[in-house]
Amino acid sequence: MSILLPFLILLAATAFAAYHRLRLAVWAAATATLLVACWLLGADKTATSVAAVLVALVALPLLLPFLRMPLITRPLLGFYTKILPPLTETERVALEAGTVGWEGQLFSGKPDWNVLADQPRPALRPDEQAFLDGPVEELCRMTNDWQITHVDADLSPELWDYIKKNRFFGMIVPKEYGGLGFTALGNHKVIQKLASISAVVSSTVGVPNSLGPAELLMHYGTDEQKQHYLPRLADGREVPCFALTGPFAGSDATSIPDYGIVCMGEWNGARVVGVRLTFDKRYITLAPVATLVGLAFRMYDPDALLGDKRDIGISLALVPRDTAGLEIGRRAMPLNSTFQNGPVRGKDVFIPLSQLIGGEAMAGKGWQMLVECLSIGRSITLPSTASGGAKIGAVATGAYARIRKQFGLSIGRFEGVEEALARIGGNAYTISALAEASAAAVARGELPAVPSTISKYHCTEMGRDVSRDVMDIIGGKGIILGPRNFAGRAYQAAPIAITVEGANIMTRSLMIFGQGAILCHPWVLKEMKAATNPDAGARLRDFDHALFGHIGFAISNAVRSLWFGLTGARIGAAPGDTYTRRYYRKLNRYSAALALMADTSMLMLGGKLKFKESLSGRLGDVLSNLYIASALLKRYEDEGSPAADQPLLAWSIHNAVFKIENAFSGALRNFPIRPVGWLLWALVFPWGRRAQYPSDRLCHKVASLLMSPNEARDRLAVGVFTTPCENNPAGRIISYLPKVVLAEPVERKLIKALKNSDIEALDFRAQLEEGVREGWITAEERVQLEELRVMTIDAISVDDFDPAELRSACSRLEQDATEARAAP
Ligand SMILES: Cc1cc2nc3c(=O)[nH]c(=O)nc-3n(C[C@H](O)[C@H](O)[C@H](O)COP(=O)(O)OP(=O)(O)OC[C@H]3O[C@@H](n4cnc5c(N)ncnc54)[C@H](O)[C@@H]3O)c2cc1C
Repeated sequence: MSILLPFLILLAATAFAAYHRLRLAVWAAATATLLVACWLLGADKTATSVAAVLVALVALPLLLPFLRMPLITRPLLGFYTKILPPLTETERVALEAGTVGWEGQLFSGKPDWNVLADQPRPALRPDEQAFLDGPVEELCRMTNDWQITHVDADLSPELWDYIKKNRFFGMIVPKEYGGLGFTALGNHKVIQKLASISAVVSSTVGVPNSLGPAELLMHYGTDEQKQHYLPRLADGREVPCFALTGPFAGSDATSIPDYGIVCMGEWNGARVVGVRLTFDKRYITLAPVATLVGLAFRMYDPDALLGDKRDIGISLALVPRDTAGLEIGRRAMPLNSTFQNGPVRGKDVFIPLSQLIGGEAMAGKGWQMLVECLSIGRSITLPSTASGGAKIGAVATGAYARIRKQFGLSIGRFEGVEEALARIGGNAYTISALAEASAAAVARGELPAVPSTISKYHCTEMGRDVSRDVMDIIGGKGIILGPRNFAGRAYQAAPIAITVEGANIMTRSLMIFGQGAILCHPWVLKEMKAATNPDAGARLRDFDHALFGHIGFAISNAVRSLWFGLTGARIGAAPGDTYTRRYYRKLNRYSAALALMADTSMLMLGGKLKFKESLSGRLGDVLSNLYIASALLKRYEDEGSPAADQPLLAWSIHNAVFKIENAFSGALRNFPIRPVGWLLWALVFPWGRRAQYPSDRLCHKVASLLMSPNEARDRLAVGVFTTPCENNPAGRIISYLPKVVLAEPVERKLIKALKNSDIEALDFRAQLEEGVREGWITAEERVQLEELRVMTIDAISVDDFDPAELRSACSRLEQDATEARAAP
């Protein structure tokens, strides 16, 4: 034992120092002191000396710069420079465009939870709350989604008018320019509520408040452009669209073939320098009705009118609708979600340089401008839409599953339905937490490049899952379209959100981890910057600092990952109360494992990692679910840790943790270098995989929570349109739930009497009469059952139509015109 003791002490001290990220000098001093104590206490002298020599061999070269720099740093810098993946211009711009917030802590392997706790609880301003309670509520009341999506294939003139008059298009425009000047949170809440009644209305309002002319002008516009356009955009005199995508440039938007040639031309009767544009854009939201087209194109100056640069680069311009040569107005039909969308084309369309966003000074900086602003809109529009849809889907389907009875039971009582209901509840709880977290990041002034991709991808994917589960549970009620259907259109439209603003497959497999690994990693970007520093002295010095920081970081993560794995993350400091602490500990564990995996992948694969999309996608899943779980805990605590919400929180965290382990498992089992994969498996899963999908008991709790009135259900419904009016079938079903629950005991009495043949009438009304007459139910209970019947019929009924009503609006118009011509 005394021979082993010095080595055990060395090992324990090293692990302790690595776990706590102590400095090398502290480790060396502490280990040396312990070894001296060993020596004095009579441990084997040879063993103690060998251990001390080992410490010295590591510590001396590393602690003495005049040894470390030439012997270690310089050769490693040479090697690093060779394997450093070349950054494309597009990637460089993307990396420089974002800020790093909480996601940086998750990448650190040792998150400082105080950073999360210190983030202020997201709160609306009084004017934002008033807008939600006033104009937004009213717009929801006015919205008839069936009328929009089937009858008119457009918003009614009254809706367009109301939207413009109440400055819905100017939510992000500052008040000084006549807009509402809302925070990102206010914007999020408005879109969320609108989406709960109509995805067409929410996208019509969302697009002008997302990446487009207003946002770009606010950041880069010249004073003149701001003064002219922002007030007009705010009050709807101008309807904007933004045209980037074309037939040959979809996901790879930088490859746009659309071009503009700098030349002289006529504008408002004067001869000026400008650009002659040729372009072919498609899928452009609001284009058919837009009065102002934001256009991305590549600008060339062959005659050197602006300088000696021929290819100026991607530039952005504002093209008024009445500009000669602009072809605009045709409509596309995005999966029956009839928001305005269509192509925009132009050949030799001349605009002056003053129509470039930011003027001549910003020519060629279009991509940078887009990427800098992209994370703002991407954090809000689609996540908020998914949140509104999922919330209303959850509470309406929960109520429906209680009201709808088959085999003598509410369908939500069957375990199969319970499982789907629990998924809906958990996903809705998760989506709303994530959507609010990304909006809050923007509201704090961040440019959340990585969280925006996480939020966009996961909110829309989970939103699609929710709409699929809703359809399965409500059966034919969801399939038969019409004014009574609250789910069919959302289900149809789900793939739109998946495709736009960065199609999801690419977002997951290329962007989340790809950007996260470099942007959020505490050392990688520093190393890259140091290695490309033109000043040789600074290059070596900075690289030395980053490299050894990185090495210590990697060792610490390996130790932490193994320790947490061995202890099942049951030991170690973590915030939270007795209920949430175990969740925080799990996240500490996976954060360390992610950092370890990220480092090893980058070290082993270098530039090739970019093309290993399966690995990148899975590591992205880990990062995403860490972020999601943090957002869930933050929201739970911000709301005062309500015990009633615990089933929702538990389902969501278990689901996230299950996905994290799935992703790790997939990444490790398919790791391109097999022995490295095995070693990593031992560090990440020393006892194998343990996380389980939420249990049946937990699913039962979540499903029950959706099916009865309670505070957790009410909290989930906050922020969506639940007013039970004619146009809102979901709101009506939701409003029935408390009464349906109260009537259930009476209903059971009636059913029992019918089963026992105590009541023999066949017709429902006659049964009630007989029930009262024979004393099985009271007269008040009869009223209750009559009411229950009315509510049930409204909840389960579907629409049917005169065949002419189902013909497209267009053919109806044609028929009307023919009939009018034929009329005497
Ligand atoms: C309804 C609607 C509204 C839209 N509104 C606008 C608008 O207002 N303005 C505008 O400019 N654009 C708009 N778009 C365009 C939208 O952003 C693009 O559709 C999107 O960028 C995808 O391009 P694509 O459809 O050509 O798909 P493609 O680029 O052909 O992609 C097809 C598939 O390949 C995947 N993929 C591509 N590259 C990679 C990769 N490197 N790694 C992994 N997977 C990859 C994608 O994820 C996708 O699954 C809209 C589109 C739609 C459908």
